[in-house]
Amino acid sequence: MIDITSKLPHVGTTIFTTIGQLAREHNAINLSQGFPNFDPDPELLALVSEAYKKGHNQYAPMQGALSLREAISEKIERLYGRYYHPESEIIVTAGATQAIFTTIAAFVRPKDEVIVIEPAFDCYEPAIALFGGKSVPVSLEGNDFKMNWSTFKSAITPKTKMVIINTPHNPTGTIWSERDMLQLQDILRDTNIILLSDEVYEHIVFDGKPHESAAKYPDLAARSFICASFGKTFHATGWKVGYCVAPKPLMHEFQKVHQFNVFSVHHPLQIALAEYLKDPQHYVNLGGFYQQKRDAFLDAIKESRFKMVPSEGTYFQLLEYSDITDEKDTVFAERLIKEYKLASIPVSVFCKSEYDKKFLRFCFAKTNDVLEKAAEILNSI
Ligand code: GLN
Repeated sequence: MIDITSKLPHVGTTIFTTIGQLAREHNAINLSQGFPNFDPDPELLALVSEAYKKGHNQYAPMQGALSLREAISEKIERLYGRYYHPESEIIVTAGATQAIFTTIAAFVRPKDEVIVIEPAFDCYEPAIALFGGKSVPVSLEGNDFKMNWSTFKSAITPKTKMVIINTPHNPTGTIWSERDMLQLQDILRDTNIILLSDEVYEHIVFDGKPHESAAKYPDLAARSFICASFGKTFHATGWKVGYCVAPKPLMHEFQKVHQFNVFSVHHPLQIALAEYLKDPQHYVNLGGFYQQKRDAFLDAIKESRFKMVPSEGTYFQLLEYSDITDEKDTVFAERLIKEYKLASIPVSVFCKSEYDKKFLRFCFAKTNDVLEKAAEILNSI
């Protein structure tokens, strides 16, 4: 027998796969994994078909189709007022997960510390561990999941190589304000710390509040990798196409890894996305679109025993169940699937440090019939 010493001894199968499987076994309504149950715009699908027919079927350039990088550059400059050079500061990736992994791979060395804000999306920590780094969790506080900036500051040590942030935030649906970003900028000023800013839900913000991209803040932008996702924005999570932007010297290092990690990404999709991105109407109304779903979902369960603070961004809504049961969230989530046929994600799976809050995460990127059925179940609990 071959003797295997796992590089990731504590890592099992991701929650999204395990809960998804359980939901299928029990024929449950699935509001667990974050993905829309509806298709992208037919106009975008037509552009994709066209791209196949027009012969964009060989390798894309390693950094991504130039037309797409140009479109990304224009979009970021228009929205956040910062210019990223299409040739040296933008790389198209196989989803944001690859952008995050590649950034970590390019910079984190054994014993480096990486500050991770918990609850944290589940792909950060395994990547850090794989390269010998140490995750340093800083927990968002209270039932409103706010950052305590003095706690954050005290987590920084001479070994801190990177900080990973995520706004709009998965799983809590909170967003960071300008004040948060300025605090972060002040704390990181005069350090050598790289910022990995996961902004995959950038276009899904509600109630007229702006998305605070790291790109808006000069001293953050200078140290940041910003990761984004077309899957979230265009209802196409299965395409696994995203991108990453960073100032040239940082991107130079990223590229060294990217070229041997994936080399390049699905070409026809890039050609279609480049064309589709030309019209900002295709993404600037996304917040309004999802806000309607959030509001309809919350309205339908307002008489339930769950407590809720409306999500500020992402397509996730947390529901607090402390009036219903004392069960741990993983236990309650499993019972909801088996007894009530409704799947959600227990928030504790996003925490390595101590966590005992009573929240489940529900994805509302679903058609109204599905949300109505889910609401009926939630009201019956
Ligand atoms: N981002 C999605 C979520 O939070 C899941 C992505 C995945 O399954 N890796 O549900």
